[in-house]
Amino acid sequence: VSHFEGITMAPPDPILGVSEAFKADDHELKLNLGVGAYRTEELQPYVLDVVKKVNKLLLEKGENLEYLPIEGLAAFNKVTAELLFGADNPVIKQQRVATVQGLSGTGSLRLAAALIERYFPGEKVLISSPTWGNHKNIFNDARVPWSEYRYYDPKTVGLDFEGMIADIKAAPEGSFILLHGCAHNPTGIDPTPEQWGVIADVIQEKNHIPFFDIAYQGFASGSLDTDAASVRMFVARGMEVIAAQSYSKNLGLYAERIGAINVVCSSPEAAARVKSQLKRIARPMYSNPPVHGARIVANIVGDSALFKEWNAEMEMMAGRIKNVRHKLFDSLSSKDKSGKDWSFVLKQIGMFSFTGLNKAQCDNMTNKWHVYMTKDGRISLAGLSLAKCEYLADAIIDSYH
Ligand code: PLP
Repeated sequence: VSHFEGITMAPPDPILGVSEAFKADDHELKLNLGVGAYRTEELQPYVLDVVKKVNKLLLEKGENLEYLPIEGLAAFNKVTAELLFGADNPVIKQQRVATVQGLSGTGSLRLAAALIERYFPGEKVLISSPTWGNHKNIFNDARVPWSEYRYYDPKTVGLDFEGMIADIKAAPEGSFILLHGCAHNPTGIDPTPEQWGVIADVIQEKNHIPFFDIAYQGFASGSLDTDAASVRMFVARGMEVIAAQSYSKNLGLYAERIGAINVVCSSPEAAARVKSQLKRIARPMYSNPPVHGARIVANIVGDSALFKEWNAEMEMMAGRIKNVRHKLFDSLSSKDKSGKDWSFVLKQIGMFSFTGLNKAQCDNMTNKWHVYMTKDGRISLAGLSLAKCEYLADAIIDSYH
């Protein structure tokens, strides 16, 4: 008898499990709107031209594959902090940012969670309700207690701003407040700049620590600077900030696992100490991060021509998603005779649309229409083409009514 007899079957992952179910379906109209990964109009995965170009360059250079330092590639860490905070941000000049290359967004969040567990025992992280499904797993596994703040208002399919502010206010002083820098996942609903200001006021008042997860910089608006405005506003107020970055979406480096954790501290000495502890956490966990994707990022951002090319491709991707969003809205509005207001689809931003479909309605989407999506009603518009909008609109309207 096996030593592992007592281990029960784990449930499928609510997001990645959707892709598995999709693969197993052989219906010709099937549509995978589960995972947030960019697809072309032909619904194929997309490798950015600028990434292909740099890959070729790197191959020609024939660089070695020695271990990186624990904190990652120095050239990557430099440009990733500059991209997020702005190259001439005083916090960078004053060396007040501890930046460590992590295993993409997820691994970077996990490092920060471990830092919180070790140095802020018992301190809570507040996460939005709803949020990206993996946030809860990350904090659970790191043994960091968390609770939720109100975010989504089903009545308006918009932001419950008052609820959000009240819950952040009510949290014990010095809590960590997890915020999506832009393109909130799963709702696609972001605070306005004025609302961000009020959120920062309350966080400052309560001596909370803002903890940004920014996995879609450049992908929401098409501009890296615009999408980093929330983070930069908090930093400009002199606040200490944690920020986890990812290059999965904006550079399409999903499988390379490239991202970073940044901790903005009030002195360079504190930043050096924080960085030393982040390295200490990383070393026994995975030792050091991957080099190839880090070189890709460093080379693209470090070269003005390549950087321009990247920005143009990012705009193209963000633009395609916006076009699909409009077409879906038009299809829903013209096909649905119930008088329902679909304008929320247009107000949402980023890769996703939060449809408001409940679990049973999502089941109908999948079982009857072969549309694969997460059970919270989220659809990834990055996996939708203009050609499939009408079909999807039929499926949504049928499932709603
Ligand atoms: N944070 C959010 C909100 C996300 O949506 C994602 C990916 O879907 C991530 C973090 C992390 O992705 P990765 O680990 O690929 O960088």
